[in-house]
Amino acid sequence: MKITLLESSVGSGPHQQILASYIVNDQVVIDAGSVGFVSPLEVQKKVEHVFLSHSHIDHLASLPIYVDNVYTPGPECPTIYGGPETLDSIKKHIFNDCLWPDMIRLSGEETPFLKLSELSAEQPVQVGRLTITPVSLTHVVPTFGFILDDGESAVAIVSDTSPTERVWELINQNKRIRGLFLESSFPNSFEWLAEKAMHLTPNLFKTELTKLQHDVPVIAVHIKIAFEPTVRAELKSLGLANVQIGEPGKTYEFH
Ligand SMILES: [Zn+2]
Ligand SMILES: [Zn+2]
Repeated sequence: MKITLLESSVGSGPHQQILASYIVNDQVVIDAGSVGFVSPLEVQKKVEHVFLSHSHIDHLASLPIYVDNVYTPGPECPTIYGGPETLDSIKKHIFNDCLWPDMIRLSGEETPFLKLSELSAEQPVQVGRLTITPVSLTHVVPTFGFILDDGESAVAIVSDTSPTERVWELINQNKRIRGLFLESSFPNSFEWLAEKAMHLTPNLFKTELTKLQHDVPVIAVHIKIAFEPTVRAELKSLGLANVQIGEPGKTYEFH
């Protein structure tokens, strides 16, 4: 399985992960933070399935732009998957003829721009060889982590969340797990903010990893840019040999 952590900053200087989008085997994207900003456009056109973890803007900022970019007049259109609250949110707040045309209504009247598909916790969705299982996390709005499994290897994306339980049970039950993306948003001194915003700090990240029974690479993601140098230093000082910090633009291979 091949997962690219999409870049989300422009200009020179260090590339920073401001928005969340992970392209899986070219065809599937988990979260639409930056997929609609990627060039060449062919990369976007190959993506036919967009899974949304939750309604926060860093996870769907480029969604309306992506839908516009890949539109072709004809029966084919991308499918957008999300929990009921997330899909309600994009209907109400994005595709509402105010922030963006109501492409959901237009899809019923004209050749479609997009299809919506509602996810339920722990009900797997099959896309080609990939089985995608949404699992409820613990965040300020209903949020799914995802376990992606192609039958040979499996990878979990666990973001956004505060300390949580169920996803670890399912990850531990899956013998094919080869890697994990786990959020670490705020520095340890901002644990009070992490609690309110329902995220992890490096210390909480470490505690979450004590629940993981597989010895696999763990890629730290979703570091808040305002605190990035501190969070990076604190993650390094955890001294965990299997932990690396996610590199924007990098494609990770899992076998
Ligand atoms: Zn969030
Ligand atoms: Zn987020």
